[in-house]
Amino acid sequence: PRRGALGLLTSLVAAIGLAGTATQVLAQDKGLIGIAMPTKSSARWIADGDNMVKAFKDKGYRTDLQYAEDDIPNQLAQIENLITKKVKVLVIASIDGSALSSVLQKAAAANIKVVGYDRLIKGTKNIDYYVTFDNFQVGVMQGQSIIDKLGLAQGKGPFNIELFGGSPDDNNATFFYDGAMSVLKPYIDSGKLVVRSKQMGMAKVGTLRWDASTAQARMDNLASAYYGKDRLHAVLSPYDGISIGILSSLKGAGYCSKTLPCPVVSGQDAEIPSIKSIIKGEQAATVFKDTRALAAAAAGLVDDMLSGKQPAVNDTKTYNNGVKVVPSILLKPVAVDATNWKTVLVDSGYYKESQLR
Ligand code: BGC
Repeated sequence: PRRGALGLLTSLVAAIGLAGTATQVLAQDKGLIGIAMPTKSSARWIADGDNMVKAFKDKGYRTDLQYAEDDIPNQLAQIENLITKKVKVLVIASIDGSALSSVLQKAAAANIKVVGYDRLIKGTKNIDYYVTFDNFQVGVMQGQSIIDKLGLAQGKGPFNIELFGGSPDDNNATFFYDGAMSVLKPYIDSGKLVVRSKQMGMAKVGTLRWDASTAQARMDNLASAYYGKDRLHAVLSPYDGISIGILSSLKGAGYCSKTLPCPVVSGQDAEIPSIKSIIKGEQAATVFKDTRALAAAAAGLVDDMLSGKQPAVNDTKTYNNGVKVVPSILLKPVAVDATNWKTVLVDSGYYKESQLR
């Protein structure tokens, strides 16, 4: 009987082995997908890249993933290189959304399809689809977090606020800013929110390349020029890296202490340092955009395109890139603060609680 059992075990192992080989052989190679990401300096893009590699692999594609460290010529060279590798589709999160026209002309000549990932590619007809989050809504959530935490809707105020925008060459930055202003502007107009610096509009409040130290330096200047004796109550920040820069500037100016609380600072991306800051009671809120869902949407869209199916877009009017309205898939962002980070980020498996404490 022992030999019998062993024999059974041996044939089982052999069968599993065979099945393993069989799947490997049978798994289709549906071709190579080129993925161009902007930078590894923010954790979200690393997650996007990793999640896309997985999502494409699950659908039978190979991937070539590139990061350009926020250097435009570098990103152009990477895309050219992906074109020479004969990728079937380019999935691109651009650094400067208006700098890709000539390289995408080459992609079109080589019959390569193009998907804008998270950020719109502008000024070209050579973009087939766009997958992103509802960017205006992200801005609304950022502005709303400030209104809620200050109690403006309950009649409190007036309060002092300063405004920060993202990188002006990133189409999203304007959407975030406009979304936030759609809810903040009425309070500014009524005098319940006061921008003492009077610096408003993307041209004045933008932060090139979303750079945290640029924002930190601007916050240093604003704090010393306008808030010597008066307290700053809120800062609109478009992205967690910038929020952390703003908070460290303000700590230097005496905020986040027993005598002077942190202003209400918004954010975006639910990056780990910001969730830690929210748990500590410093950053007020962020906006979570599930990169797993965005990656899956991109892979699904590409697979549909390549298998001749009509991709299921849910927006065909918002994203005019100057040459065409790009059919888009818009996912829903989620507002996160001290009350729900655990449910949204830990229960969903996005982070482990041990990463956040
Ligand atoms: C993305 C944001 C991100 C920002 C900075 C934007 O295009 O939509 O999620 O915070 O870039 O990386």
